[in-house]
Amino acid sequence: MGTNAEIRVNGRSYRRPTVPTVVICFDGCDPRYIAHGLEANLLPNISRVISQGFYAIADAAMPTFTNPNNMSIVAGAPPKVHGIAGNYYLDRATGKEVMITDASLVASGTILAALADAGARVAAITAKDKLRKMLGSGLKGICFSSERAGEATLAENGIENVEALVGRKAPDMYSPDLSLFVLDAGIKLLEAGRADLLYLSLSDMVQHAAAPGDALADQFNRDVDQRVGRLLELGAVVGIVADHGMTDKSGPDGRPQVVYLETLLNQQFGAGSARVICPITDPFVKHHGALGSFVRVYATGDTPADVLMDAAARIPGVGLVLDGVSAAGRFEMPLEREGDFVAIGDTHTVIGSRPDEHDLTGLNGHKLRSHGGLSEQPVPFMLSRPLSAEYQARVGTQRLRNFDIFDFALNGTA
Ligand SMILES: [Zn+2]
Repeated sequence: MGTNAEIRVNGRSYRRPTVPTVVICFDGCDPRYIAHGLEANLLPNISRVISQGFYAIADAAMPTFTNPNNMSIVAGAPPKVHGIAGNYYLDRATGKEVMITDASLVASGTILAALADAGARVAAITAKDKLRKMLGSGLKGICFSSERAGEATLAENGIENVEALVGRKAPDMYSPDLSLFVLDAGIKLLEAGRADLLYLSLSDMVQHAAAPGDALADQFNRDVDQRVGRLLELGAVVGIVADHGMTDKSGPDGRPQVVYLETLLNQQFGAGSARVICPITDPFVKHHGALGSFVRVYATGDTPADVLMDAAARIPGVGLVLDGVSAAGRFEMPLEREGDFVAIGDTHTVIGSRPDEHDLTGLNGHKLRSHGGLSEQPVPFMLSRPLSAEYQARVGTQRLRNFDIFDFALNGTA
């Protein structure tokens, strides 16, 4: 197959990379971090990307959570195509709540797997291991997480001795280094000429804890920027996008602004009337207490779903409710995983189920910052090279999505 042969994935065509191409998912990088970083001169390399290449604000997929959006980015398609719309769902057939821990529910191919099949050397590196399994679905290449870097094997991950390659031990789960390690590993692979296409997916731990201008966020963004500089030095085309934004979810008093929707509905209609599933739920929730701005609601008693939905819509802090069919249609989510209805918090409100399902002690004094709703859809979208005339024209006429990034990076530069 020649280098210009086009590869079809989920209805779109992709060219094999002719120069090393790196796509970074800057997890939780709300556009406000970029704006602040540029203004405060924290981001010299990202500033260069923006001035020499392309920068716009794109829309993330709904719900604006990490896994649905990472899957959308590598599939080049919304959740209804790849099937991942949260970390957690209620199986209607069994009535059981199921946590998605591997790739068994991934319903489509990925750009990474298809390009590897076409002969490109592909590497996908994630912060968390659970995401690694999904992103690596069908991929014949290098695929590992910084969480489990010490355990990578040739058979499972296409690489071994990752800690020796990067020059340090796999970082702690809750350290900013979990993300920096991902970038450093990508740099080492590029330096060694071991990959043509890299997907580097970070963690949003810092953004959950620190707002633009906070010392922790500023230092982290400087550290990421420095690594972007190294990738540019190595001659790579660099695309940067985020899976979702991040918003302060506290009230005027600084305390978390939470609607415990299951509690409120069951108080009004009787115990057992409603079950609320929070698709942000994950074994690692210390930094946000499993609270996001998007939930799925199931009518589990005698009260009809539309009556519960009407009541939910009247609760202050609930910004939007939609029945499952409408939500799946409007947000391109898989209908088979949808609730009877969804509830989306307003900008500064998260929606939980019951207080006993959400432990906020892990916030350790910082404000609750989270995502999941419509307010976290705007995300940065940048490329280190200018767009071709064709792609420039497209930007003017079509809604730009974060999952367009591989298309732009592989097909769209001048
Ligand atoms: Zn995220």
